[in-house]
Amino acid sequence: IICNKEDVIKAIETNNVKFIRLQFTDIQGVVKDVEIPVTQIEKALTTGISFDGSSIEGFVRIDESDMVLKPDIRTFAILPWNNDKGLVARMICDIYMPNGKEFEADPRYVLKKVMKEAEEMGYELNVGPELEFFLFEKINGKATVVPHDYGRYFEFAPTDLAEDIRREIVLTLMDLNFDIEASHHEVAFGQHEIDFKYGDALTTADNVMTFKYVTRTIAKMHGLHATFMPKPIAIENGSGMHVNLSLSKDGENAFYDENGDMQISETARQFIAGVLKHIKAISCIANPLVNSYKRLIPGYEAPVYITWSGANRSSLIRIPSPRGKSTRTELRSPDPSCNPYLTFAAILAAGLEGVRNKMDPGKIMDYNIFDLTKQERAERGIETLPSTISESADYLENDELLKSTLGEHVHDNILRLARAEWDAYRTQVHDWEIQRYLNTI
Ligand code: ADP
Ligand code: MG
Ligand code: MG
Ligand code: MG
Ligand code: MG
Repeated sequence: IICNKEDVIKAIETNNVKFIRLQFTDIQGVVKDVEIPVTQIEKALTTGISFDGSSIEGFVRIDESDMVLKPDIRTFAILPWNNDKGLVARMICDIYMPNGKEFEADPRYVLKKVMKEAEEMGYELNVGPELEFFLFEKINGKATVVPHDYGRYFEFAPTDLAEDIRREIVLTLMDLNFDIEASHHEVAFGQHEIDFKYGDALTTADNVMTFKYVTRTIAKMHGLHATFMPKPIAIENGSGMHVNLSLSKDGENAFYDENGDMQISETARQFIAGVLKHIKAISCIANPLVNSYKRLIPGYEAPVYITWSGANRSSLIRIPSPRGKSTRTELRSPDPSCNPYLTFAAILAAGLEGVRNKMDPGKIMDYNIFDLTKQERAERGIETLPSTISESADYLENDELLKSTLGEHVHDNILRLARAEWDAYRTQVHDWEIQRYLNTI
């Protein structure tokens, strides 16, 4: 385990590492990096490496553009794929301003700020995301939406053609210190899921970023295209990123209560209440694309209504059956196109508000909500998730808690990006409209 500067230098020397990729994530959740030869490592570990922040989406500041990357030593890992020019390692970085202060729009900083608040209340958040993705064929080097196989949920060879690729992704992730729990074919043709063990929010957000580029890289080595697009095929399940959450206090799971109703604690209920209260605004972060909302429709195992339940999978939040150490809530709306740092920060802030204000999540809806009529839903006070990114943006704009959690800079930029995304979409005339209207209207 790497804990200090000397460990890094030693690991570089013993493994004959030649290059270091300094990585960070922009507001939209895209991983960026700058590569340095090992000759620069001393400088990187002491003063940091400067870069021009004004070219990074959402980082633009008129007054400041010289940012500094300072690697988080604990994220040092050697990238396991071959490189004939010498081994390459990566470190995930924090972003600083030239005056030495932390950059308020660095997604890692935003998350660390909320984690600190939790810590002050005596809690630590555990997060376990389930990333789903598609493997598609490439034709003439170009990605298509032709599924790589015609397997379904939990199927195996010969219908699941991706066993070897999944194993290679799993092995690569294990080389990068992931604790893998399971991998399986998902419901849609060409769709897969690989589950890794939950951890603290920051480590897990870092892991989500690593997971995505490892998956894409291994797929590419096999001549395939991996995508985390939420809904690539209209008539198939989309790809979600369920987020499993629990708080621990003094090393114990604070969501478990042996004697509580459903064996969950008041803290768990309050946390859920906070998340339910803010979920419409959280959607703008957890479901940031036009395409995200095409997944959140009835009929495809994705949530639509703002409810919580026991093990029933039609709810937005459910309590998976395991108890004791594994007691957790599962938030089912986020998708893997989100920025995981900001998404976990928003969820944690909302949950903590629920705990702080001892909020009540209301009654569980332990039946299939999709079977209710509109009127029955209205009678039960069941609300609906936003149905477009534009609607989510309106909720985020007016959410004071999330505004202070994200900081003004990130809040403004997320809104700007969400509205630009919506405008880009609504100003197009789509093929669907031509097919539907051209000959009949
Ligand atoms: P599902 O039944 O919804 O498919 P999975 O088994 O695919 O669930 O994923 C469960 C996730 O929950 C894993 O990432 C696991 O590590 C995580 N998890 C387990 N216990 C906890 C906990 N106490 N807090 C947060 N996450 C947890
Ligand atoms: Mg799963
Ligand atoms: Mg599972
Ligand atoms: Mg799944
Ligand atoms: Mg799940």
